[in-house]
Amino acid sequence: MERESLEMDVVFVGAGPANLSGALYLTQLIEKAKSEGKALGEVQIAVIEKGSSVGAHILSGAVMDPKGLAELIPDFIKKGAPLESEVKEDQFLFLTSTRAFRSPINPPPLNNHGYYIVSLNRLTAWLGEQCEAAGVNIFPEFPGAELLYDESDRVIGVRTGDKGIDKEGNQKSNYEPGVDLYAKVTVLGEGVRGSLTKKLVQRLGLDEGREPQVYSLGVKELWELPDDRYPAGRVTHTLGFPSDQWTYGGGWIYGMQNRVLNLGYVTGLDYRDPLIDPHAEFQKFKSHPFVAKLLEGGKMIRYGAKAIAAGGWYAMPQMYADGVLIVGDSAGFLNAARLKGIHTAIKSGMLAAETIFDALLEKDYSAKTLQEYEHRVKRSWITPELRRYRNFHAGFRHGRWLGIVNAGFQYITGGRAWGFLDRDHQEAGHEAMKTLSALGYPNADTTLRYQGVKFDGKLTFNKVTDVYHAAVAHDEDQPVHLHVLDTNVCTTRCAEEYGNPCQRFCPAAVYEMVDNGNSKRELQINFSNCVHCKTCDIMDPYQIINWVTPEGGGGPDYRGM
Ligand code: SF4
Repeated sequence: MERESLEMDVVFVGAGPANLSGALYLTQLIEKAKSEGKALGEVQIAVIEKGSSVGAHILSGAVMDPKGLAELIPDFIKKGAPLESEVKEDQFLFLTSTRAFRSPINPPPLNNHGYYIVSLNRLTAWLGEQCEAAGVNIFPEFPGAELLYDESDRVIGVRTGDKGIDKEGNQKSNYEPGVDLYAKVTVLGEGVRGSLTKKLVQRLGLDEGREPQVYSLGVKELWELPDDRYPAGRVTHTLGFPSDQWTYGGGWIYGMQNRVLNLGYVTGLDYRDPLIDPHAEFQKFKSHPFVAKLLEGGKMIRYGAKAIAAGGWYAMPQMYADGVLIVGDSAGFLNAARLKGIHTAIKSGMLAAETIFDALLEKDYSAKTLQEYEHRVKRSWITPELRRYRNFHAGFRHGRWLGIVNAGFQYITGGRAWGFLDRDHQEAGHEAMKTLSALGYPNADTTLRYQGVKFDGKLTFNKVTDVYHAAVAHDEDQPVHLHVLDTNVCTTRCAEEYGNPCQRFCPAAVYEMVDNGNSKRELQINFSNCVHCKTCDIMDPYQIINWVTPEGGGGPDYRGM
């Protein structure tokens, strides 16, 4: 069957806030130019999205600094942007295993007055509607499977994933080959650890001289409460329990409309203990008396998980090359200290759009023209904001308490690390994991770490129950989209050294070591559970798991997340 191809001017890969903002702003710039008599001709803009609809794969806390959205759509409130509540109250708690101590002052980066609690998946769906109204072509269920290059390594577009391939790799009766979308500029806004971005960065060496990106994993649930015990607009952040002092982590509890409580727990994906299970950390967090009391009589209604790029300024790759730009979380625009990245993602999309607009005028899509995107980022408010917290995550690599001291020092010195260093170093997260024997564990029995943690189905849930609440769906008869390059490692070295941590770091029970009937254990991949959080691609200690896009439309169906 012949592969169809389509000629576009600009293709945005991933319908997240950065790309949708970029696409929308580009239409605004083109309209303005037309009204000023500048001839640009018809500009074809497409956004492709692997989810079944715009926003279906988007999950965040989230408290949004409206700065970016206000630049893109100044009257966003009048236009009906879905905002849960303005932040009315901030609190910061330190949790011991039994008690909660409220800090008399809120850490300055977590001052959220004037900001908004949002469901990012709703906000993204709304941005998608604004784009469509402005003439942007949006194609849901179209995953970007691979980038297309010319002979000089210039990106010339993207090939979308095939549909209708069975699990053995054969074509089914509904087979549809992916489409080659050719574009003058391709914009990668695939979110954290984008599968195309990862390959592009490796192929062109775009991370040369940068710090390795480091990540965290956010695991989240929505609960319906029986009464008004936690008002919309209240924001709580926590530090301490259940993370040990070597594990970067913390909780959040946000009040949304209609008595919905939005809570979650972040675990740094540079933890040392291979028995850590970020999903279990979150369940443990909920069993803390302070949190458990809040949830009493409530009902869990939604679940989700997503990795977070926390490395900061020095971990950002070069964000341009011939024919391509990288925006939003794919480039690491999150401000980890402020726990905010929606505003910077939106702004990065807008700056990409300005650069593409100039490139269209000049008819030059080379790196020479597109590098102006990075210059624009450097001249924008993004840079002072991210530079101020440029060493934030690295400051925690010697444990929680030194991390707090470092954060304070950096705050006073405008971002300098201990010793007034401009740039601190960090290791890739998977390198921080220690072996079971180095930590004195006799085996990989998780009760060694999670003694007393029970999944009671009321307050705490096992992964399979939680995954049900993420409304995940993948056609079972398709190739596995988690590529484990050498499964022998799983049964030998990894079993012995780390006790197969994939079974724990995956928040969706995708990886299981099962008895193969010959008294040997081998890896079983329950790929249809996958919530696309990307943790396995990040945290595997041997770096032999490659997450690739499954058939379009598969994955979670987040609502209100
Ligand atoms: Fe996340 Fe990987 Fe598990 Fe999918 S398989 S849910 S990407 S850790």
